[in-house]
Amino acid sequence: MSEGGPKTAGQQAIAIELATAHGPLRAMIPIPPKPLRLPELAFNFMGMSSKVTDLAVQHEEREGRSVSCRKGCGACCRQVVPLSPPEAWMIADIVAGMPPARQAEVRAAFATADDAVARSGLGAALAGRIESVGQMTSLALQYFQLGAACPFLRNESCSIHPYRPSICREYLVTSPAENCAQLGRGPIDRVPAGIRLSEALSRLTAKLLGREAEVVPLTQALAWAEAHREEGQRTWDARTLLEGLLAELSPSNRSV
Ligand code: SF4
Repeated sequence: MSEGGPKTAGQQAIAIELATAHGPLRAMIPIPPKPLRLPELAFNFMGMSSKVTDLAVQHEEREGRSVSCRKGCGACCRQVVPLSPPEAWMIADIVAGMPPARQAEVRAAFATADDAVARSGLGAALAGRIESVGQMTSLALQYFQLGAACPFLRNESCSIHPYRPSICREYLVTSPAENCAQLGRGPIDRVPAGIRLSEALSRLTAKLLGREAEVVPLTQALAWAEAHREEGQRTWDARTLLEGLLAELSPSNRSV
């Protein structure tokens, strides 16, 4: 990692070479000229999550496999969606920025999903502290059977596609779409993630706030963000946050 010259007047950038499971990703990351909140850090890295996924897709294609995910297939949007804390605050920011009528619809959809979870045996498991993406996805089959669609799913498409969280960018399959629509029917061949941004964000958050790492189910994001509002408003020097996250993404730290 090295420091680049001014990107625009008064703005610095960091040149990075990120080692992913499918080759290096080189990019210039502008350093915002003001302190950052953790949700802003997450938002700034969503584009990188997509670029890493592009490398993974290219790798699959070279191996003769093609991604079967298509616009209009929202099967995976009925699975449990694990978010890092910064992404939970990011989701709350996105909803708060929506026009009032749309915001009311989305908040009602969150309440519907919440009700479905509360009525199931999963309420307690999802409301407690969940340490890792792996721990949450172990509940995947039970959660999927609830049929609780993501509050952002509209006409089987993502209504916040440009702002969707990292796990939604990383989740791609090469197996038939029907296997996602009916979990347990056949194998689901996931495209291996090049990095797991949500896990790196969770670890960084835990270090900065001096507590254990956790992940938040998307359907709980608004309630969780409200309960942790003060921490979501804290700011850090932008360079400190960028370098901290890049360190968490380094091969020695990550689990992929
Ligand atoms: S945020 Fe979008 S892509 Fe992710 S689960 Fe929800 S609807 Fe699907």
